[in-house]
Amino acid sequence: MLDNPSHLLHEMNRVHNLAVELDPEEVWRCLGPAGNARESLNADVLQATGFAASASNPRGISRILNVESAKRGKVYFESGYIAEGKRLPHIFEGAEGAVFLIATAGPGVETEVASMMERGDHIEGVVLDAAGSAVAINAAEQMQAQLMWELEQAGYKVGPPITPGTEPWDIEGQLTMFDVLIADEIDVTLLESLLMYPQKTQSKLIPFGRELRLVNNPDEAPCRTCRASRCPMRLEEYVGILGE
Ligand code: SF4
Repeated sequence: MLDNPSHLLHEMNRVHNLAVELDPEEVWRCLGPAGNARESLNADVLQATGFAASASNPRGISRILNVESAKRGKVYFESGYIAEGKRLPHIFEGAEGAVFLIATAGPGVETEVASMMERGDHIEGVVLDAAGSAVAINAAEQMQAQLMWELEQAGYKVGPPITPGTEPWDIEGQLTMFDVLIADEIDVTLLESLLMYPQKTQSKLIPFGRELRLVNNPDEAPCRTCRASRCPMRLEEYVGILGE
């Protein structure tokens, strides 16, 4: 069991009310390379940036659970929760606990995008959709940064955030996320397809521990000296074995 008295540990669901100040560059990142269209889309991006920031209601929910063990493709948490994924035990080597988090932009942007598409304003709709994604990413990163900072202040090393539906963790991980978190409190629901509503929502799992092996800090990540050249989870470039 964790023995740090931080207010973070062992609490149940914690709701985060977030304020997102969106920069147009964050919207461009979600739109992808615009090439020659950048100039002609600039006004749409500026407008979408302003609209998305005002129409969103960014909120999040998080919970911390102790890790009991990690073996044979499964991580066992306190209270009987289990996360399954072939590579999860490697990510959880040395983990004492994990943060489960969901952050959402709310439904405001996607409702407007649906109306735009219905009216035939496809370009404006695509740009606003990207702005909604940027709000959700910004909200999740804010929460992540705050929670990681609190854990580091309490003396823990923090691992890379893992998302259901990516290499280390199957999409079924969403079922665990929604078992652990009372997402209703921020009006987020899991659909039968395992997608979330609102769509502009992110879910993540972040391991931590005083002896965590796979840390998020580039200076400490073991990937730099690990020869597993085909590893799909590599956090840092291979720089060779020290002393070779
Ligand atoms: S590169 Fe090596 S240390 Fe890094 S995640 Fe892959 S197996 Fe682990």
